[in-house]
Amino acid sequence: MKKQHNIDFSSDWNLGPAPESTANLKLKEKYDLYINGKFVAPKSGVYFDTINPANEEVLCQVARANAEDIDFAVKSARKAFNTSWSKLSGKERGKYMYRIARIIQERAREFAIVESLDGGKPIRESRDIDIPLAAAHFFYYAGWADKLEYAFPNRKPKALGVAGQIIPWNFPLLMASWKIAPALAAGNTVVIKSSKSTPLTLHLLAEVIHEAGLPAGVVNIISGNGETGSFIVEHPDVDKIAFTGSTEVGKIIMRSITGTHKKASMELGGKAANIIFEDAPLDQAVEGIINGIFFNQGHVCCAGSRLYVQESVFEKVLQKLKDRLQSLKIGDPLDKNTDIGAINSKDQLRDINKYIEIGLQEGAHIYQPDCKLPSKGFWCKPTLFTNVSQSNRITQEEIFGPVLAIQTFRTIEEVIEKANNSPYGLSAGVWTDKGSKIFNMTTKLKAGVVWANTFNKFDPASPFGGYKESGFGREGGVHGLGEYLKFD
Ligand code: NAD
Ligand code: MN
Repeated sequence: MKKQHNIDFSSDWNLGPAPESTANLKLKEKYDLYINGKFVAPKSGVYFDTINPANEEVLCQVARANAEDIDFAVKSARKAFNTSWSKLSGKERGKYMYRIARIIQERAREFAIVESLDGGKPIRESRDIDIPLAAAHFFYYAGWADKLEYAFPNRKPKALGVAGQIIPWNFPLLMASWKIAPALAAGNTVVIKSSKSTPLTLHLLAEVIHEAGLPAGVVNIISGNGETGSFIVEHPDVDKIAFTGSTEVGKIIMRSITGTHKKASMELGGKAANIIFEDAPLDQAVEGIINGIFFNQGHVCCAGSRLYVQESVFEKVLQKLKDRLQSLKIGDPLDKNTDIGAINSKDQLRDINKYIEIGLQEGAHIYQPDCKLPSKGFWCKPTLFTNVSQSNRITQEEIFGPVLAIQTFRTIEEVIEKANNSPYGLSAGVWTDKGSKIFNMTTKLKAGVVWANTFNKFDPASPFGGYKESGFGREGGVHGLGEYLKFD
């Protein structure tokens, strides 16, 4: 009989480095704005650096748009809406969208490398999740473009006009696809702004849109800071604001558009509860918990940042979590073996460390694996907190980093109450062997998405969005299409 190998689940697995090659990658020194079908310099002449957070090196410079640039972009989008895009049949619009999807697929490897370089996320994630899902959203919504009457029977769906869209830094290309694809399928034109720390894949997307030959002005791609975003929000000729970002900025935007004709959808923060019952397959659950919070360094709005474990299996689950953390690889985002990449920016790292400090002051017990962090760049060890109470700030506030607050529970009623005791309600996870328990929980948890025996799973056909301070409106599916339509 063959000898069984003993597998050592410690961190010194001697995997050789396996970095993606950047040899064929040609980044420009400067990226301009894409307005009215042309690449144009910003009116102010101002460019800013975007860096690689894994080593703090400057990757290149990107344009910072001002109010004049935004006015030009909105006017171009309006003209395109009136003269070209709204004159096309749904079938023709769909063809352009299929083309975008196909070109993203053709350039997938380049997109994945750039996403990881600019944002710090592991290549495995950008390669297997961000980029394929972005293409999938264009494919999916392309299919709806000529079927709006079927999607909304007897309601005479009509495009809104010009959509202003603002996205965060955690999933740049994917968030852009969530927004641009349904807007175009519904017949709108778009002005979209990237986040300051991860603008690059949107500039590549501008090249894709150009190559796909969309009529000038249908999609305008803008880079800049928060002020640039406010120029889009305040422009009087924008018909809809689609925002993904923090609850704090979402509130500012809502105050600014109250009393205007602008329609809005808001995808904001989260503090998801992941719940493990004693009858759950524990190894699978532990893997899901790890994926739910340490995936993308916890830079995920729907991250499972609160864990509730049924008391009878708590010690076992905690030990499994610690063992698994010890085996995770932290380091070069471009390495295919990397599980945990860099924190996106210096500011984000400061905020996360502040919360780790708060956790300690609140009396929580900390566990971090014994591992070395790279000397340059922004890094944070995956962190578990136990001895946590429901009222602690690390339980209540969004940290947006690799920090998991763990509590125990005894009964279903108790855990439902604790899970719902949050200002947020974006997502939740339930781990159990019993289907009946899952159905019971999904009707009672106040969260837009409830995953059962899995976590962080996305599909273009499935709507996503929050309750309470996590926002309103849905992206994905037919629901996401409806956000870009008006009805007679
Ligand atoms: P942020 O709110 O600081 O910025 C988001 C975007 O808004 C950026 O492009 C920024 O430039 C722009 N912006 C900033 N101030 C603005 C203003 N006054 N007017 C208009 N635009 C403005 O958020 P962030 O730090 O980039 O991202 C992290 C946050 O995003 C987290 O809170 C996270 O939960 C949330 N998020 C939510 C979802 C979701 O789907 N619900 C997805 C990803 C991220
Ligand atoms: Mn960057």
